[in-house]
Amino acid sequence: MFKADLHCHTTFSDGTLTPQELMQLAKNVGLSALSITDHDTLGAYAQAPQEAKKLGLILGTGVELSCQFKDASIHILGYDYSLESEELRTFCEKHHRRRELRNQKILEKLSRLGMQITQDELVSTFGIDSTIGRPHIAKLMTEKGYVISPKEAFNLYIGDDKCCFDSGVAFSVEETIQVIHQADGKAFLAHPHLLSNFKSLKTLLDQAFDGIECHYARCSPEQEKRWLKIAKHRGWLMSGGSDFHGDSKAYVRLGCSWVSEEVFHQIFQKHVFL
Ligand code: AMP
Ligand code: ZN
Ligand code: FE
Ligand code: FE
Repeated sequence: MFKADLHCHTTFSDGTLTPQELMQLAKNVGLSALSITDHDTLGAYAQAPQEAKKLGLILGTGVELSCQFKDASIHILGYDYSLESEELRTFCEKHHRRRELRNQKILEKLSRLGMQITQDELVSTFGIDSTIGRPHIAKLMTEKGYVISPKEAFNLYIGDDKCCFDSGVAFSVEETIQVIHQADGKAFLAHPHLLSNFKSLKTLLDQAFDGIECHYARCSPEQEKRWLKIAKHRGWLMSGGSDFHGDSKAYVRLGCSWVSEEVFHQIFQKHVFL
């Protein structure tokens, strides 16, 4: 049976498998197609198309862009965009600089509480080409014994409303969707169930999305129904995927959430490697 997982991460962001390892696993678990959706970077796509061809996997272009809507952190999945897009590449470079400044502020706040982590350590541990964010900081805090687990790091210090958090500058939903469209891509609201209680959800849904992520690991059938209804009502496409991160989220298996061949080809029409 054709199964396509449209949401997974690699070592280019906060996943623990390299693009090659991820695609080999995709093959092993019986997926026919996938889209790699690292946070704020297209890094995996330097090698992924060749690797997919070798393995006989179908690969559609993907990315997961971070942005802010009112007081909420929002993730937007960009699919079927052109890898040649200068606008999207420049936007990802801006994210890289935004994160450096933001991470620095978080590290300074941690340092004031006696937890010493430097940017250099982050870069040497996770790589210069990787999108580095709070999950990486949480991992180093755990390794250094400042907390007992990444979960604790978020709960006590770096979660959205905790003392060492800093949002830094953030990009808007409008700008993010616009850049995806300039790159010939389609913009999907990611994991909407995380926004179930967000008071501005209705206004957010009035943005120029092309689709919404309806199938997601650990999303209840009632939730799925709610998003499918919204997609139908608005004439949007629906997507789905596991949000696989490897060992850093070991309870989520690659391919545990997926879309059919028909849905895959509704989304990926131009920028797909067969
Ligand atoms: P960043 O993009 O650097 O702001 O980090 C956001 C990422 O941190 C999200 O994609 C989640 O994977 C993770 N995250 C955010 N809040 C929490 C939390 N409370 N517990 C665990 N992980 C979290
Ligand atoms: Zn992630
Ligand atoms: Fe996300
Ligand atoms: Fe994700």
